[in-house]
Amino acid sequence: MTLKKFVRDIGGGTMTKGRFPYEYININNYATELNKSEPFPREAFDNKLKNKSISEAKSQEYLVEAAKYATRWDQARSYNIQDTRIMIEPIDNLIKMMFKYKIDMLVMFSMSQCANAIKYSNAYDDFKMNGDYNAEDTDKPINITIPYWTAKVESYIEQEQKKNRDSSKNVTIGDYEYFKELFEKQRCFICNCKFTWKNRPTLDRINNELGHSKDNVLPCCLYCNNKHDKFNGFVKDFMQQRADAKSQK
Ligand SMILES: [Zn+2]
Repeated sequence: MTLKKFVRDIGGGTMTKGRFPYEYININNYATELNKSEPFPREAFDNKLKNKSISEAKSQEYLVEAAKYATRWDQARSYNIQDTRIMIEPIDNLIKMMFKYKIDMLVMFSMSQCANAIKYSNAYDDFKMNGDYNAEDTDKPINITIPYWTAKVESYIEQEQKKNRDSSKNVTIGDYEYFKELFEKQRCFICNCKFTWKNRPTLDRINNELGHSKDNVLPCCLYCNNKHDKFNGFVKDFMQQRADAKSQK
């Protein structure tokens, strides 16, 4: 986007940057040329790159503007300040535009980053923290068998041994009836999915220092249990808030 378009489209186009023949000034002539007090001659504004000259109307505009300054140095200074100031209004507007979506432009530097954040902001506009967004599946709730439960109990003991955790308070084969009912009636504490043979239950430990004891576990689907250790802090916090909101329902 050019500066001109930026000012016009985002800034409301109220400011202009004025005219200065920067192509005319170079390392050899700047001291003599800028010390002069008369306006620059019309040919000073020739654009050699585009092979264009300034129009009569624009030349007249420049002469009116130049009359305000004592020397060409003053013109240069004013032009340079204006060249920067002209961007302040559009930048302020951008910040205001983004702030509507609670997007902090100090964090999102590029416009594509901002656009992406707006997309998410819109997607979550009507998101309810304790809403249920699961497509209800028609599969029967899981009805775990004794061999299935036994294998689970043994694998938890194995896990504790590998990680040097105490397994003396772990769930036992004798807890079969309790967990059979729990997996049948309760849902994943993170996503609220029901447990089926396709969406198998696991026991997620609340305190990671402790083992799979009855009072340290919550029913959690395999998907959520596998994923949430790898999720970043923000997602974990979000999931916790969801779980809290649901339990207050
Ligand atoms: Zn889940």
